[in-house]
Amino acid sequence: MASNRRAFLTATAVGALTVAPAQAVPNGTTGGPRPPSPRAALDELLAGNHRYASGRPLHPHEGGGRRRLLAAEQHPFAVVVGCVDSRVPPELVFDQGLGDLLCIRTAGQVLDEAVLASIQYGVEVLRVPLVLVLGHERCGAVAATLDHLRAGVPVPGHLELLVEEIAPAARRTRGLPGDWAEHTMTAHTRWVRDAIRADPAFVPAHVAAARFDLDTGLVSLIP
Ligand SMILES: [Zn+2]
Repeated sequence: MASNRRAFLTATAVGALTVAPAQAVPNGTTGGPRPPSPRAALDELLAGNHRYASGRPLHPHEGGGRRRLLAAEQHPFAVVVGCVDSRVPPELVFDQGLGDLLCIRTAGQVLDEAVLASIQYGVEVLRVPLVLVLGHERCGAVAATLDHLRAGVPVPGHLELLVEEIAPAARRTRGLPGDWAEHTMTAHTRWVRDAIRADPAFVPAHVAAARFDLDTGLVSLIP
């Protein structure tokens, strides 16, 4: 990773943007202050997911009033590092709205310098207390990786990066009983979480990992 680039980003971002007090703007589902702690932020995400999975979403914070409130500044309460999969949009599966989540999505939630810089923007500049890495069931990026390892299926062009990033988790879990794709997704998501945790840039935030179930719509934390 280009630490000099990271340092530049930090210096310019912090210098150029004013950081307002984190709890000055209504941001919770009920219009109250944004969750005051990482635990409260995680609880809010899981509560929203239960609303979504049970078919009783509130679709909060989507109106013009909210838009006007946010026009000048934003105070999202969680960074979600998730997959591009069209079935796993974080705002929907966590039943959140405008200004609530800073979402960074790459296929297979793989990390690169742009992803790390985006997380840093959330944690350092916007003072977001929680980073959640979100893997999901039947991930296409995981499937492509397993096809490549199992049968030598060629990986075209830019997709090679995804396979390179996910392959270590696939190799580590290959001999385990059960569903290799599921084991790979879990191990890879855990690895991404741990890599973010280990980065000194993200010390101020709590970093967690979770799995989205396409069948039930439920998110469960990965220990
Ligand atoms: Zn995916």
